[in-house]
Order: sequence, then C-alpha cells, then structure tokens
Amino acid sequence: MSAPRWVDVARAANLLGADGTPRATVFAEMSALAAATGSVNLGQGFPDVDGPESVARVAADSIRAGVNQYPPGPGIPELRHAIAAHQARRYGLSLDPDSQVLVTAGATEAMAATVLALAGPGDEVLTLEPFYDAYAAVIALAGATHTTAPLRATPDGFRLDEDALAAAFTSRTRLVVINTPHNPTGAVLTRDELGLVARLAQQHDALVVTDEVYEHLTLPGPDGVRATHVPIATLPGMAQRTLTISSAGKTFSFTGWKIGWVSGPAELLDAVRTVKQFLTYVNGAPFQPAVAFALQDEGVAAWVDELAASLARRRDLLSDGLRAAGFAVARPQGTYFVVADAAPLGYDDGVALCRDLPRLCGVVGVPVSAFTRPGSPTDEALRSWVRFTFVKRDDVLAEAVGRLARLGA
Ligand SMILES: *Cc1c(COP(=O)(O)O)cnc(C)c1O
Repeated sequence: MSAPRWVDVARAANLLGADGTPRATVFAEMSALAAATGSVNLGQGFPDVDGPESVARVAADSIRAGVNQYPPGPGIPELRHAIAAHQARRYGLSLDPDSQVLVTAGATEAMAATVLALAGPGDEVLTLEPFYDAYAAVIALAGATHTTAPLRATPDGFRLDEDALAAAFTSRTRLVVINTPHNPTGAVLTRDELGLVARLAQQHDALVVTDEVYEHLTLPGPDGVRATHVPIATLPGMAQRTLTISSAGKTFSFTGWKIGWVSGPAELLDAVRTVKQFLTYVNGAPFQPAVAFALQDEGVAAWVDELAASLARRRDLLSDGLRAAGFAVARPQGTYFVVADAAPLGYDDGVALCRDLPRLCGVVGVPVSAFTRPGSPTDEALRSWVRFTFVKRDDVLAEAVGRLARLGA
C-alpha cells in the first residue's frame, strides 16, 4: 500500500518529523518564538497597517447590503471585468472576462487549482529555487515531480542562472512556475531572463504559470528608477501558453481577504475552473466588489504607489541596519522581503541563527532554507541566508534595527 498523499506533501514541504509525524512550518515556529520571547517579528510577511479605508468601506457596505451568499462560481462579473481591464490598461493584455478570468481564494488556490489541473504523475513541474513554500506542497499533492532552477546571489541581486535553467528542462517538463517580483529574494526578473524562460518553454512545449502577487510592489534601484514588472504573458507567443496569477492581498494590504485570480487561454482556464470548483467552489462574496472597486479607483492606485514608495524607504532602513549588524544584504527590487547572508557574522546555518536571534538580540526572521529543497545545491548555497520582512511600521523597523546592532557589538 502506498503512503497517503499528506505524507508526500509533508515531505515535499520538509515538514515530516523523524518520527513520521508532521511538524509545524518554520514560519509557525518562528512566530511562536517571537511571541514567547517578546521579539520583533520580521518573519511572516503581512502588513501591520491595513489597506485603504475606501476599499474596506465597500466590503463593509456589501455585507450590510446583503452580499452574503455564494457568489457566481467564476467570480462576480464586476470583478472579472475589473481584472481584465487592469491587465489591458497596465500591460496591453487582452482577456475575455467571461472565459479567460477566474476569481479564486487567493493566489494560493489559483496555484493549487492550476497545478492540480495541469500536472500529474510522470510530469515535471519546474520552479525557480528558492521558491514560495506552497509550490512544493501542491506539486506533491498533484503527484508530479518537482524540479528546480536556481536563482543565484550576484552583485546585481539574485539572478537567473541561464545554463542551469536550460539544463533543468526535460522532455517531461509540463509546467514552469515562475514568480516575479520574487519571494523570498526580491528579484524582479528582467525582460531578458523572461525571454529565456519563454524560449525554453516554447522549445519544450511547456506551459508557464506566473505568480505576480507583488506586481505593483516594485522598488527603485540605486539609480532611483523603479524596477519594471514584465508579465511573461506579454512576450511574443506566450499569451497562449501562460496562466497569470495575482491577488488583492499584497497589492492592497488586505492579506486576510484571500481574493486572487488567474487568467489565460480559455481552454486552460476551463481546466483550472473544473478543479477550483471542488476546492473552495467560491469565497469572499462581500470582498469581491471591494476588490473590483480597488482595481479601478484612481485614489486607490495612488495609495498603492505610495505604499511602494514607503516600502522602498523601509527596505533601505532595514537593509542599512542589517548591513551595520554585519550581514551581507542582497538589494531587493520588489516584494516585502530582504534576504541577508549571516556568513560574514560567522554563522553558517540560517536555521540555527534564526533559533538564536531572539536570545541574541530580540528579532525574528526565517531561514531561506524554508524556501529550498533539502540537500539541493541551492539549499547548500543559501544555507547561511535569512529572510526578513520590511512591511512593518517605521517604529517597529527602527526598534528591530536598534536590536540588530547588538549582534555586531
Ligand atoms: C503571499 C504570497 C502568495 C499568497 O497569496 P494569497 O493571495 O494570500 O493566497 C502567493 N505567492 C507568493 C509569492 C506570495 O508571497
């Protein structure tokens, strides 16, 4: 008899204890440690200030107005239209809101339904490494094989290794899952990097799934120019083989609402919808009109730009503090996160350091190994790296920076 599927999931997510029982994720472990020690928690990435009041009001009004029963399976038409209009306005992508847009329970369900719909035993699903932890779990749920291509630390931040990417493709590569702006490294994939992914996907007849939940949260580089988010679906020949995933959570600072979406060719969306309707069926009826409003309102768009600008300042505050404490810091071009190498401080194991940090200085981060495959070359290369979030209030970050200074002292 084969093991139940949860065992594959726990193993893929590195959550299978030596005694065969599942253990808590490192995120849960570190959050509990932060609470128990009164540490500043820069582990889990959620904002400590909510999104725009105008958007919250639409959700609250919707509840009072009776928008409280199951919404339509694919999502309410207003939201699907707003998503299609957003993709057209921002990226020049043309989507039919009825057949090419599906509203989901966050980007997480969009990814789960997509992988479950399109990959199975015998298929390889290729992701970047490090990768968002849910990818490995859902690939295991699908019974597919997870392969990876590394992002490597360079003076220019984390970049795709072109030869390693080409070598990671095989005749069994069915899906390529990319993520830009990238969690945890903060890399924003360049048009050239995306062009290589596109070329290889076409050569191997693979589909591309792209997680773009940080699409609006790109940050300026040393020259003051904001990194440009390029959706891979905009590259020549790619719209017909790409499923694009995004979400309201990160863009509008409402991570608890769990309204996401996936868009792409109608026949692929049909497959994803078929699975999605038996995962959650639907979710978030009163939040859907609020997100439709948020995607179309100019005041909210200005709020998002201000969020990105304030994230840039907060990135610099935390990065300077980490550098002063002795870490080597990779400059993120987007997202909520900065990754830092503790090797210059004399720590070669990020997990051990994260367990010690609360005692050493009262700050919590998560080891980058939470985003790698145990024992992989990337796992080895990034063993001493730690991820910290900067989506916290300035006073919280200033407190963390003050505490981190004790490390170097
Ligand atoms: C936060 C995050 C998600 C999850 O998004 P939800 O809309 O909350 O499900 C997915 N992918 C990445 C890379 C994330 O950082």
